[in-house]
Amino acid sequence: MPGRRTIAIVGRPNVGKSALFNRLAQKKISIVHDMPGVTRDRISSVCRLGQHPFEIIDTGGIGGDVDASFTDQVHAEVEIALTASDLLLFVVDGQDGITPVDLELAKRLRKIDKPLILVVNKIDHDKHGNAPVEFSRLGFTPLVAVSAEHNRGIGDLVHEIEKRLPLPDADAEKPAGSALNPVKIAIVGRPNVGKSSLTNAILKDDRTLVSPISGTTRDAIDVPYERHGNHYVLIDTAGIRARGKVDNSVEVFSIMRSEGSIKRSDLCLLVIDATAGVTSQDKKIAGLIQAAKRPCVVALNKWDLIKDQTEDKEALKKVLEQMKSELFFIDYAPVMLVSAKTGAELTRLFRTIERVRIESTARISTGVLNRLFQDIVTQHPPPLAGSRRLKILFATQPENTSREIIPLPEFVLFVNDDKCLDATYKRFIEARLREKSPYTGVPIQFRLRGREKRGENKSGKGILRKSWAHHKK
Ligand code: GDP
Repeated sequence: MPGRRTIAIVGRPNVGKSALFNRLAQKKISIVHDMPGVTRDRISSVCRLGQHPFEIIDTGGIGGDVDASFTDQVHAEVEIALTASDLLLFVVDGQDGITPVDLELAKRLRKIDKPLILVVNKIDHDKHGNAPVEFSRLGFTPLVAVSAEHNRGIGDLVHEIEKRLPLPDADAEKPAGSALNPVKIAIVGRPNVGKSSLTNAILKDDRTLVSPISGTTRDAIDVPYERHGNHYVLIDTAGIRARGKVDNSVEVFSIMRSEGSIKRSDLCLLVIDATAGVTSQDKKIAGLIQAAKRPCVVALNKWDLIKDQTEDKEALKKVLEQMKSELFFIDYAPVMLVSAKTGAELTRLFRTIERVRIESTARISTGVLNRLFQDIVTQHPPPLAGSRRLKILFATQPENTSREIIPLPEFVLFVNDDKCLDATYKRFIEARLREKSPYTGVPIQFRLRGREKRGENKSGKGILRKSWAHHKK
């Protein structure tokens, strides 16, 4: 489900968040707990009561730390709601009236630049009709009176929610790969691996069409290129075309040059000479791509020369695995054999590039993600880091608002202590995420929010984090 149609329910305990969640999700209301951590299923569900489905998160359902204080817990919930949702439902108890905790929460929520609906719950009878007036003092509009338990006002609430969410269609993918938004591909690699041959083979391939800027393509730095209706720009190809003698200065120069093209590319095609194997220069360039966090596909060129060694499937697999293990630090990049000379596998190469582009936009919904994390930590608990152990309280994949043609998937993990996540466990988590959604060719980003973390206070959100940390015992 697109990230832009996710709402989060916040409010102090016992106001009926869980009852409202169940009502919106059309779940059978059996026992209404306002005890946190009852079940992970309470975290997230889908509401289908309106014109289009949207995702609901009940922040009160998030377990949290057993040792977290009440205030910590509430702050955590607000912060999670902020990160994970596009609209907030601030629930208050219409029978209790405004309490100090409501006021405290309202103060925090007022600072937040996100659409918010104030939901006055427990308006069970008409005689409660005046209760909402008191809550208008909090200064939030709209205000909707409901009774989650007696199913009153839910239709109005859904209507107000829908008015504030974009239509699912409006969420349609931006036309990446179109003429206006071509995928910029940097063909990089050390000298003599066949970059210019490969570029020429791509441009000459009879299934392709070079954009008609006649006469200029020879010396152009960026070559627009169309294949099967998808648009690309092969960037920085001029230097590649001029063949020079290979000496050290050329090597150094080519690496410097690669660095620039890597940075301005949407995707790097790392060319490696299959007959030479992965050399230290290749690794250096792969390292640049990894450090620049660029999507990447590795093309092992000159396949024609080692074809006899890769005749049977087993041998081929062995060659690929050997190369992959040499490139372990950029293990997100698919590795494939090609031949600039014969043009072999160019179609597959571009199919892979398209796969990278399409898979990068996939989003794992909050519900699926949190169930996955629950499985991960149950089956394979995080190791001790010193005397502490990592606890993952909640995970979400916020909507990617970058204008990148190939956006990098990012996951925000709310944890007890962000210093407890070690590299091995992170790789393990990453592998499990890729089983759900492969994200071929793109590096996955993790952002950790730990209660212990202090310090930087950018973007206003840090205010919450700071006070959250501040309340720590
Ligand atoms: P660049 O420096 O990376 O641009 O490499 P070039 O494209 O200039 O290629 C270096 C050498 O490798 C040239 O002699 C090419 O003819 C040769 N070459 C490039 N690709 C292939 C290939 O797929 N197969 C074979 N057999 N030779 C290739």
